[in-house]
Amino acid sequence: MAPSQRCPLCRQTFFCGRGHVYSRKHQRQLKEALERLLPQVEAARKAIRAAQVERYVPEHDRCCWCLCCGREVRKHLSHGNLTVLHGGLLEHLASPEHKKATNRFWWENKAEFQMKEKFLISSQDYARFKKSMVKGLDSYEEKEDEVIKEMAAQIREVEHSRQELVRSVLEVGFPRRSQSTSGSARPRRRLFSAWKLERDQQSSGLRLAAAFLLGPATSPGA
Ligand SMILES: [Zn+2]
Ligand SMILES: [Zn+2]
Repeated sequence: MAPSQRCPLCRQTFFCGRGHVYSRKHQRQLKEALERLLPQVEAARKAIRAAQVERYVPEHDRCCWCLCCGREVRKHLSHGNLTVLHGGLLEHLASPEHKKATNRFWWENKAEFQMKEKFLISSQDYARFKKSMVKGLDSYEEKEDEVIKEMAAQIREVEHSRQELVRSVLEVGFPRRSQSTSGSARPRRRLFSAWKLERDQQSSGLRLAAAFLLGPATSPGA
């Protein structure tokens, strides 16, 4: 009698030696297990030419079960606050360890030969992925830059309307008399010029001064 063996795919002990892997039950379990892994491998394969970079979230620590190696593998590749989607699985599928384990798994389980290629990533494809990862990181940075630019534009807009406000208040408060040399206008004009000079020299100083003068969001009519 053949020694008993435990089949991890069928989760049962059998006594028919190597013959078990040819059995209908085993081949069905094998097919189902491969079909569970395949969509994840295919999703990863799609990322080869278009690597996606996202801001890290704990969800990115998810693993998937590599049937061939019999162990958990990280799906994504995270570093600092960034994640390259599918990077972990692609790295694994391209590794020599995975290739060796896959060859053994295919031989031991008498899996369909044509299917094997679907679970392997060539070193050329992995090199391609690394290039697209660099592109992905660049476009992520550009996207981030755009957000920062938008925020800066908004801040500038607020600043601008605030400056307009200061100007209109000052124009009302200290009317310009370009040709007038009347005694009463002069000190005011001097004050206005000093203010203008200050604005030109150091706009941040002006903003501070305007904020101090006007208080928070004071309207000219108030
Ligand atoms: Zn089995
Ligand atoms: Zn593996």
